[in-house]
Amino acid sequence: MFSEKTYGHSIVIYLDANASEPLRSEARDAVVAALALTGNPASIHTHGRAARAALENARSAIAAKLGAAPADLVFCSGGTEANAMAIAALAQGRRVLIGATEHDAVRAASPGATTLPVLPDGTLNLDAMRDALHSGPPALVCCMLANNETGVLHPIEAIAALCREHGARLHVDAVQAAGRMTLHVPSLGADTVALSGHKLGGPKGAGVLVLAPGLHLPALIAGGGQERGRRGGTPPLPAIAGFAAAITSAMPPSPALRDALEQAAQADGAIVCGTGSRLPNTTCLALPGVKAETQVISLDLAGIAVSAGAACSSGKVTASHVLTAMGLTNLAGCAIRVSLPWNVTAAAVPAFCAAYEKMLARALPRTAAAT
Ligand code: PLP
Repeated sequence: MFSEKTYGHSIVIYLDANASEPLRSEARDAVVAALALTGNPASIHTHGRAARAALENARSAIAAKLGAAPADLVFCSGGTEANAMAIAALAQGRRVLIGATEHDAVRAASPGATTLPVLPDGTLNLDAMRDALHSGPPALVCCMLANNETGVLHPIEAIAALCREHGARLHVDAVQAAGRMTLHVPSLGADTVALSGHKLGGPKGAGVLVLAPGLHLPALIAGGGQERGRRGGTPPLPAIAGFAAAITSAMPPSPALRDALEQAAQADGAIVCGTGSRLPNTTCLALPGVKAETQVISLDLAGIAVSAGAACSSGKVTASHVLTAMGLTNLAGCAIRVSLPWNVTAAAVPAFCAAYEKMLARALPRTAAAT
């Protein structure tokens, strides 16, 4: 059995929710119940029909929470696939424009795309977007709702209005926003919206792409015609059931603990990157001259789990493309992301502050000596 203890010490306080949220108990119960269902939802016998009913219940619950119609939800393996599915389908015959701070899931799915700049506050530069839409053939615009590193919220409704004006399609990656802010998908005005179960307290392994009413989407993975021919493959029912339970119980958190933690870090010399309208659980804290990796390791040794920019499967820490795009090139290699999970308690604030100060005491003298 794996546990955090495998790695030498137990992680005392987990502040890396944007990488993955802790599993909610409601989600765990739903997963366990779904694991007991033997049937394949595509089978017509009793066992298959029971699995099918559980799948459709989950679909209805997620759709209700998002204000969407159940038939417009396409289940898949997670946020990366939901983004890839949308872009592969909507980009056909169109040029692709993506925001400079998009997640790698979107960047990798749109090779050759034109990058739209962001303003210093991290939001999409709408003038630049208008200019790009004016010049050239019909476009697909990809813009995230909330940024994974800074929590900055993009003005999606204004972006959708510009897209409509210019006959452009809009895909929105709402992976970090779901569960952390009220999300009424039709109000966004997008053609497609991507969500991921493990980012809101469900298990890993399920995501959903929400389609605008009436939108037909060719499958990225055709297979056996599941999901009305829009995504082949037996759906991961336990993960989907957990996703539904998680989104049903998710409530947007208060920013109070994030703000307290952030203010304490600022008093110690940290610079907050992206301070405008943003997710209530996220802060991006830069310490000029102290490498992000050094900060993450030092905080981990003190029992605090945070990340350096985007979590990355190879474990490499490179300068953040998000901060670079915001014009914060000098801070792009020395910022950490602190993202509070749904079950954070007030004890996290003093614990983080103590670890942060310990890290500062170790890192700064060496930095001062080196400069
Ligand atoms: N989009 C954003 C904004 C993300 O933060 C992530 C994950 O970090 C993804 C997409 C990918 O989601 P998943 O891990 O479910 O594939």
